[in-house]
Amino acid sequence: MTLRDETRTLLSRLGVAAAAYQGGAMASFSPVTGEQIGALTPETPGTVAAAIDRAAAAFRSWRLVPAPKRGELVRLWAEELRAAKADLGRLVSIEAGKTLSEGLGEVQEMIDICDFAVGLSRQLYGLTIATERPGHRMMESWHPLGVVGVISAFNFPVAVWAWNTALALVCGDPVIWKPSEKTPLTALAAQAVLTHAITRFGAAPEGLAQLLIGGPEIGAALVESPKVALISATGSTRMGRIVGPKVAARFGRSILELGGNNAGIVCASADLDMTLRAVAFGAMGTAGQRCTTLRRLFVQDSIYEALVSRLMRAYASVSVGNPLETQALVGPLIDRAAFDAMQAALDAARAAGGVVHGGTRVACGPDTAFYVRPALVEMQAQIGPVLEETFAPILYVMRFSTLEAVIEEHNAVAAGLSSSIFTLDLREMELFLSAAGSDCGIANVNIGTSGAEIGGAFGGEKETGGGRESGSDAWKGYMRRATNTINYSRALPLAQGVVFDI
Ligand code: NAD
Repeated sequence: MTLRDETRTLLSRLGVAAAAYQGGAMASFSPVTGEQIGALTPETPGTVAAAIDRAAAAFRSWRLVPAPKRGELVRLWAEELRAAKADLGRLVSIEAGKTLSEGLGEVQEMIDICDFAVGLSRQLYGLTIATERPGHRMMESWHPLGVVGVISAFNFPVAVWAWNTALALVCGDPVIWKPSEKTPLTALAAQAVLTHAITRFGAAPEGLAQLLIGGPEIGAALVESPKVALISATGSTRMGRIVGPKVAARFGRSILELGGNNAGIVCASADLDMTLRAVAFGAMGTAGQRCTTLRRLFVQDSIYEALVSRLMRAYASVSVGNPLETQALVGPLIDRAAFDAMQAALDAARAAGGVVHGGTRVACGPDTAFYVRPALVEMQAQIGPVLEETFAPILYVMRFSTLEAVIEEHNAVAAGLSSSIFTLDLREMELFLSAAGSDCGIANVNIGTSGAEIGGAFGGEKETGGGRESGSDAWKGYMRRATNTINYSRALPLAQGVVFDI
């Protein structure tokens, strides 16, 4: 069976009508072979405006449904996702090029955030606050915010949408999703799974969860609409630089989840066997196409040769190939542009004095697919391409002598998403996690930079955009806070002792 036929079988089993992905002007490709697997019809400015109006109308009733009842819809969604996991996970692998285990892991992440959100639907707590006035009570209430626009990237084609949507739905907000133009079929399938849950739920307003297929211009229409209260945008810093100011200009709210340039610091005390595995997965997993991919590695002088020689062996032997075959650990790059960007970064590294190991194209299937051997690049200094995110499997390795100095270097890049230290020394670990340590939104000890769990808040600082999604109290981003002061006395004392007697 060709990939195109298999894709059709999966889409049909997941409940997507053939008309949604056949005969349209927008092509979808599989990076596994480079072949076209779908032809979709993109939205137009008129259909986007109508979708926003439907969502705004849905908000008026959904905000009044009790939160635990809203949670019931998300509970049904998790049931549907469990049933669809094998098919949807395989579709993620076909359209995004992830290994099967990672495709299934992505769907598991959707299930996990649904379970989290169901519990949350009974825990949207506000504070009770001490007031300075007698006979008064002060409290915080959390209310639904409004229509949420989700713009997502190709590399987590469905999980990021689910992180946002599970929280938004229990928080009382309708969702409009503009997925990556590189992974529209997976979006159709994921939306169909949610639609099954909505149908079973029965009492959801029309327009509660909508999907808009199209390119950046469709995302831009959401960004510009004052009827969309929150834009949650995941993608490159380049995209965030356009989207962030546009939302701010209309005083909308945004959650920006942008690029990373994540680093690990390996101290002489580290457990090298464990470090090797963590670095290998962090840097080569998902073919270097995770926002949390390990891109810079600082290794202490005394263990540099020992670790780097072992890493070089791992890089030379890691299995690169068809991600649908179980032995492959590294699948393809998403497209030719990603391959060209990788080669340009490696050329720039060579020009800056770097020694490049690997990074060459690996023949696997047709010429339209882009598989590469991951690249390990020894650099004398953190210069040139090391300072930027190249969305490909390139790990820049540098030496260091003291932890204090290398923490400065670690933080001297524009992005601030994820970071790790490998050490068995308590002082080194605590310094890295302290206010004088890593400046990233995620700081780990003895695990890699990638592979976050949904229970923690996910996101990063600086050019990563500052947004937080998923666990902890990230739900507050999808609600509005009202401070309520209630006077149950017979007097009207004013705050700060102000007198105003009439
Ligand atoms: P991208 O920026 O090219 O596209 C992301 C999404 O933004 C797509 O849906 C695209 O259509 C949309 N878009 C682009 N320009 C837009 C505009 N002007 N207005 C509205 N929408 C617009 O990113 P990509 O190549 O799909 O993904 C890779 C990037 O995403 C990397 O930089 C990676 O680090 C980042 N990423 C970040 C996170 C995170 O949580 N921080 C997660 C995944 C990916």
